[in-house]
Amino acid sequence: MNIHEYQAKAVLREFGVPVPNGAVAFSPEEAVAAAKELGSKAWVVKAQIHAGGRGKGGGVKLAKTIDDVRAEADTILGMTLVTHQTGPEGRLVRRVYIEEASEIARELYLSCLVDRATSRVAFICSTEGGMDIEEVAAETPEKILTLTVDPASGYSGFHGRKVAYALGLEGDQVKQCVKLIGNLYRAVTEKDASLLEINPLIVTGAGDLVCLDAKMNFDSNALYRHADIFELRDIDEEDPAEVEASRFDLNYVKLDGSIGCMVNGAGLAMATMDIIKLYGSEPANFLDVGGGANKEQVMNAFKIILSDENVEGILVNIFGGIMRCDIIAEGIVAAAKEMSIEVPLVVRLEGTNVDLGKKILNESGLAIIAADDLADAAQKIVAQVKEAA
Ligand code: GDP
Ligand code: MN
Repeated sequence: MNIHEYQAKAVLREFGVPVPNGAVAFSPEEAVAAAKELGSKAWVVKAQIHAGGRGKGGGVKLAKTIDDVRAEADTILGMTLVTHQTGPEGRLVRRVYIEEASEIARELYLSCLVDRATSRVAFICSTEGGMDIEEVAAETPEKILTLTVDPASGYSGFHGRKVAYALGLEGDQVKQCVKLIGNLYRAVTEKDASLLEINPLIVTGAGDLVCLDAKMNFDSNALYRHADIFELRDIDEEDPAEVEASRFDLNYVKLDGSIGCMVNGAGLAMATMDIIKLYGSEPANFLDVGGGANKEQVMNAFKIILSDENVEGILVNIFGGIMRCDIIAEGIVAAAKEMSIEVPLVVRLEGTNVDLGKKILNESGLAIIAADDLADAAQKIVAQVKEAA
């Protein structure tokens, strides 16, 4: 789960991480009140959306007077902000963050994430802050330092000192860096964050380290033990179909293709997506209906798949293990009868009572195309969609 920059900064502040003072605003009036309350000489008005690259897209503006704050907030609130992370359709800005402006001497890059390759928390830092780290990695990889923390021994000062030297910090900044890295490590591990990105981490005019931007992602499977974090969820920032799916306990991820997939088990869902691609088409989604593929779940899943207007055909691929194929077939038939599915529907069942399941599909009177195995199913749905096009 993602949260907004201002929320991430509030979380980090709890861990003693230096962030500028600021307040969120939902209207230009609130922005003005926030700016007055902060009482600084200049402010930054920052669009709050779950995507980076806001500065380049016009979503981060410096304001020197209260009138500027009002004008910038007025422009940014309600704008559709397009950045390299939002896609061309952009994202509607509903809140802005009003922050006291910082004087920047240097812009650095720092992030912390759970690294799958080493199964450890890793810190990544670079002197090239404020830029796309992907670009730095591609063009000047020598300017990026990655170091991991052994979970058995945990964080210690030398991690912070290594980062400090890589970033070319001096004097008291080294001490500040050691403390900062320690606090960030605590924030990430205690809150079950999967990613924390500070871009830029700045050296201020006065020579202090301050986190000027903050992006934080959390492990959704750990949210049950972080009610405070879960409260920060902003459903406006999520895909509506994915929000709907999460209400039904369906694991759904929308993709760009045209073949809707309804599958049980994440592994089988991945294999199904792969084989659709192998036969020359693209999946419209990842969808794992879970173990209990009953009529209600199947109906919910059909509704969500069909809410995507790119879907030109549906492939149901279900392995009946504990849940028998005949029960699943009844669920599919009942759901299809109630829902009037107007795109081709290919169903592949395998497992317990598969013959009975196929019989139910064949005798349903519905235009369901039965398939024998995964390859057959993928070929049939790809052919159907091509034919209809
Ligand atoms: P992003 O574009 O979404 O990554 O948003 P950031 O929070 O990183 O802001 C973009 C850029 O705006 C930063 O890299 C800075 O160069 C600039 N910026 C943000 N806050 C301040 C500030 O307080 N003072 C100054 N001078 N520049 C700022
Ligand atoms: Mn940034």
